[in-house]
Amino acid sequence: MTNANGDQPSEATLLIRGGLTRTPFDETAEAIFPTSGYVYGSAAEAEAAFAGDTKRFIYSRYGNPTVAMFEERLRLLEGAEACMATASGMAAVFASLASYLKCGDRVVASRALFGSCSVVLTEILPRLGIESQLVDGTDLDQWSDALKKPTSAVFLESPSNPGLQIVDVAAVAELAHEAEALVIIDNVFATPVLQRPLELGADVVVYSATKHIDGQGRVLGGAVLSSQKYVDDHLMPFLRHTGPSMSPFNAWTLLKGMETLRLRVDASCATANLLASKLDGHTKLSSLRYPGHPSHPQHELAMAQMSKGGTVLAVEIDGDKDATFRFLDALSLFDISNNLGDSKSLATHPATTTHRRLGVDGRAAVGIGESMVRLSIGLEDAEELLEDVLSALGQV
Ligand SMILES: *Cc1c(COP(=O)(O)O)cnc(C)c1O
Repeated sequence: MTNANGDQPSEATLLIRGGLTRTPFDETAEAIFPTSGYVYGSAAEAEAAFAGDTKRFIYSRYGNPTVAMFEERLRLLEGAEACMATASGMAAVFASLASYLKCGDRVVASRALFGSCSVVLTEILPRLGIESQLVDGTDLDQWSDALKKPTSAVFLESPSNPGLQIVDVAAVAELAHEAEALVIIDNVFATPVLQRPLELGADVVVYSATKHIDGQGRVLGGAVLSSQKYVDDHLMPFLRHTGPSMSPFNAWTLLKGMETLRLRVDASCATANLLASKLDGHTKLSSLRYPGHPSHPQHELAMAQMSKGGTVLAVEIDGDKDATFRFLDALSLFDISNNLGDSKSLATHPATTTHRRLGVDGRAAVGIGESMVRLSIGLEDAEELLEDVLSALGQV
């Protein structure tokens, strides 16, 4: 796909038109193909398709035209050689690791991870004979030490969920590549429009498309972006034969989500910035974290690798769990939810929901206390959202 000058179109154009293919009916919008399979004009055609001699759709577990449009749009946006969609973000995370690693391999990961990512690394992979070591993602010495033992892959999230810890992606990628380890990054919090991990040296980028890519609370989805070689040698066979495929309807919804992705993320970032600057130092808060605010301990690094601070804030209520619950219950615009990246502003208590599974010690190790609240900033009026938080803080 090119623009009038024959160049690759800009981000804004790709988000609307990237990957668009039309049927002979010349429809404006992307078509949904709710079909499980495809038919062949002859037995020989079927044979050629299965032998790989012709490239065509065979079965929707392998590929589907609507899903392919979504994959191509995200691939162009990310600047990757290949993209494969999955049924959810966790399917993408698991496939990115399980398709590549085998019994006896070792993976090094930053400790500050989304709850389910943590379970995959510390419980599920070890059960398959894959050793995983967790490090403080902000400490390059710890990465370097951990990578002294033969390591097949590193996995990290930046900013992390929910503590908004920033990992120096370029520095970790360099250390990992010296150790010949594959670098996999969960880029959900940064979104495809704020951070470009492949340019920072990552090899594989995974998304929960459920978050900002849909961004309107409708469907689950995920994606893995990488080199063609990684897809051909590892990911594609794993996905084809284990089956976590994205549904055509979800792909269509996500295509529509991508059309407004930049507009939504920019608007949420602006409001998140406003909230961070107005709430910083509030007497009812013992801490506030937002990568776009100078008070964040890694603000400079965040701004070097992300173009904006993101759509999520983490605050700590100056009080115990009861006081924190009073704050959450007093919010009237923010909904209490475990989701994020939505047009509706959402407030989460990670210790009792998304990160409950980690246990008290596991949470303490990544700085998730009973008074932490994650605020995912949506698209409502910025001043009204600020008033909502201020008024709820008043009732702590
Ligand atoms: C939500 C989330 C996931 C999982 O995505 P699902 O679509 O819910 O499966 C993975 N990583 C991060 C950082 C997330 O926030």
